[in-house]
Amino acid sequence: MDNRYKTVLLFGAPGAGKGTQGKILGTIPGFFHFSCGDVFRSIDIHSELGKVFYEYSSRGELVPDEVTVKMWAQNISARTVIGDYKRTKDLLILDGIPRTTAQAKMMDTHIDVLKIVHLVCKDQSAMIERLRRRALKENRFDDADEKVIRRRWAVYEKETFPVLEHYTKDKVLEVNSEGSPAVVLSEILRAIAPIQSAHFKGFGD
Ligand code: ADP
Repeated sequence: MDNRYKTVLLFGAPGAGKGTQGKILGTIPGFFHFSCGDVFRSIDIHSELGKVFYEYSSRGELVPDEVTVKMWAQNISARTVIGDYKRTKDLLILDGIPRTTAQAKMMDTHIDVLKIVHLVCKDQSAMIERLRRRALKENRFDDADEKVIRRRWAVYEKETFPVLEHYTKDKVLEVNSEGSPAVVLSEILRAIAPIQSAHFKGFGD
């Protein structure tokens, strides 16, 4: 039996809208949203892992693969133990992980990727604007500075974009994320709601 987590990946450049969509999806029974960046940010900055996270993210760089995947595996397993994530009922929505091909390979034994939702926003200035607004609202040190934002994009293009090649093409759905959150959401749901119902009978508690 395939015991891996049934998963949908939310994919896209920084500022493309993964977080916004992921948060909404996570409020719907039958979906469990896991944002790698949010979990990293929740770690005590004075802890060993917190220091590593700060060191890399403040430069707009990725945390090393081994550390990231280990943190993810431990965290998701803890969430199943506390019953936050019900693996027999919830489709896992991964946001911000895997972010390198090496991470994708390491995670193959844990996740069964059913769909990849690739959010595409061609308007760079709109993305910068989104990141800036978020930096002010959420007090994010990595998005306050345009130099760091540009570094994050360069890292995305070089290390993250190739992750798409790791999966078969038929799994990838491109969604234009320039529309309103509701329009983008409806397009995502049209693709993933049938996946949720095909794999899970009950939902919620
Ligand atoms: P965004 O959604 O704006 O792209 P995140 O909040 O997901 O950014 O991530 C913030 C930072 O956390 C990243 O710049 C990186 O340093 C670190 N991080 C998050 N996810 C990963 C990952 N899968 N691998 C390595 N580093 C990560």
